[in-house]
Amino acid sequence: MHSIGMYPKLIIDAQKLRHNAKTMNELCQQHGIDLTGVIKGFNGIPEIAEEYINGGVQSIGSSRLPQLEAVKERHPEIHTLMLRIPMLSELERMLQSSDCSLQSERIVIEELAALCKQTGQTHEVLLMADLGDLREGFFDEQELIQAALYIENEAENLVLKGIGTNLGCYGSITPDQINLGKLVELAEEIESKIGRKLEWVSGGASTTVPLVLNGSIPEGITHLRVGDSIMLRDMEKFFNYTFDGMHPDCFRLEAEIIELKEKPSYPIGTISVDAFGNVAEYENIGTRLKALLAVGRQDVGDMTKLISDIDHIKVIGGSSDHTIVDLTDAGQDFKIGDTLTFTMEYENVLYLSSSEYVSKEIIHQEALI
Ligand SMILES: *Cc1c(COP(=O)(O)O)cnc(C)c1O
Repeated sequence: MHSIGMYPKLIIDAQKLRHNAKTMNELCQQHGIDLTGVIKGFNGIPEIAEEYINGGVQSIGSSRLPQLEAVKERHPEIHTLMLRIPMLSELERMLQSSDCSLQSERIVIEELAALCKQTGQTHEVLLMADLGDLREGFFDEQELIQAALYIENEAENLVLKGIGTNLGCYGSITPDQINLGKLVELAEEIESKIGRKLEWVSGGASTTVPLVLNGSIPEGITHLRVGDSIMLRDMEKFFNYTFDGMHPDCFRLEAEIIELKEKPSYPIGTISVDAFGNVAEYENIGTRLKALLAVGRQDVGDMTKLISDIDHIKVIGGSSDHTIVDLTDAGQDFKIGDTLTFTMEYENVLYLSSSEYVSKEIIHQEALI
């Protein structure tokens, strides 16, 4: 119970995650869409990535090469997609583990073509178009089309897999029929110039999933790259949809209570900035029963996104190594050494799965759904 280094603990339910991956894969298949399951959100932990594959996902994507290398090592037959526009300096390494990559710079594509020619290997390219989110992608249409023609006609060892876009990351732009329709138009223009169909017209990530669910995804979108919406259901409240049949609790955090006291809700003294230089606001709601948990921002990112398993327990804040929760309304007793369990959002899984200070437990429950 009190073994050293046990908490904080990230508990991952393998069966539930496999179920979610399978459900997402089937939804995509029903709409003629190929799915790349994205594993960067849980640090690519191989035993967990395994559950995507067990769920039937045939292509695995990540922004980090070590994660793709681990997948390739275990499953040479699984298609791997490098999601972050690669560094010029990592192309050689990328070619060892990635079957396909997203690209948006001609100079990088040309270097990739040269490297592939040297070794005689082939590599697939998905050209990115920036349709307004203003992160990666060609912004100039003609530049995109020229790059496509270069790959198709001149770069012998590169295969033009298709084109894609990313939305809802920097610019918070919602995928819709206008921007995705534009992507399909661009694809058709390229298809008419090269005289064949593109295999993938890649219409985005988790933020595109609602369009698949409500049937408004433009015809012609044939590929998605999804991580978050397989792992969690944290986007539903922001995008106003539900995906019934998906488990919301594949990832849970268990953290230990290290202090338990009644304290005021409003700090005493002159308020300046918190540990991260932020100006915080505090509401005076009187004296509260508060617990301090041994988990902090270094482990979970923004801890106020954690949701307690017990109703009316609220995470009110914290710092690098501490999380403060309000237990006043929980309706039960707690003591030092007890643990509290939370479900979470994407940011929390990202931090927890990457932290060496967090132990990870993968549970295999039987007979779920
Ligand atoms: C991270 C990423 C994805 C997956 O995003 P989710 O929100 O986890 O579905 C897809 N495409 C690119 C380019 C990414 O970087």
